[in-house]
Amino acid sequence: MQYAIVTELNRCIGCLSCSVACKCENNVPIGNFWQKVMRVGSTPINEGDDFPNVEMYFLPVGCQHCKDPECVKVCPTGASHKKEDGTVQIDKEKCIGCQFCVMACPYGVRYLNEEVKVVEKCTLCEHLTAEGKDPECVTGCVGLARHFGDLDDPASDVAKMVAAAGEKAYRLKDVGNGPSCVYILNKQKWRG
Ligand code: SF4
Ligand code: SF4
Repeated sequence: MQYAIVTELNRCIGCLSCSVACKCENNVPIGNFWQKVMRVGSTPINEGDDFPNVEMYFLPVGCQHCKDPECVKVCPTGASHKKEDGTVQIDKEKCIGCQFCVMACPYGVRYLNEEVKVVEKCTLCEHLTAEGKDPECVTGCVGLARHFGDLDDPASDVAKMVAAAGEKAYRLKDVGNGPSCVYILNKQKWRG
């Protein structure tokens, strides 16, 4: 079983609603984010191209709930762990705030909560998914770009979406940790 988020990048308008919804739902401290939205580009489609031959997209990034996560490997207390549902979680009772995991994560999605001195990151809203609801970033996505489900279940909507996308389904760069979340990028031409 592997719960994960699938994001259709051509639907993402960079509005940051996912970041805001996440912060409200999870009480994320000021200055920290469980979900960031990057702007990639604009860059020339071919070397030397000028507008309108440029491309740009928004890339929402949170914990990728990796298959073989570095954060879990380096955690000295077992606080960071991978659950049977595929999500990577932090046991706050066991976390000593050493931040080895913060340094080990290739995607910079963890931070130390200065107030309580434990590390935090996206939980995929496990308190909501346990009740059969979607994570708040999915519910709050204005572009309807985000989808939640079990990628290991071929009958799930997310698995079907990834299968249908074929080579247009991407993951963040894998440096041995096996990121789970998927990004689907169907490029669209400028219609000005
Ligand atoms: Fe760990 Fe970073 Fe992978 Fe999340 S994205 S499971 S914090 S290595
Ligand atoms: Fe993109 Fe949806 Fe996040 Fe808005 S809420 S930035 S459309 S993923």
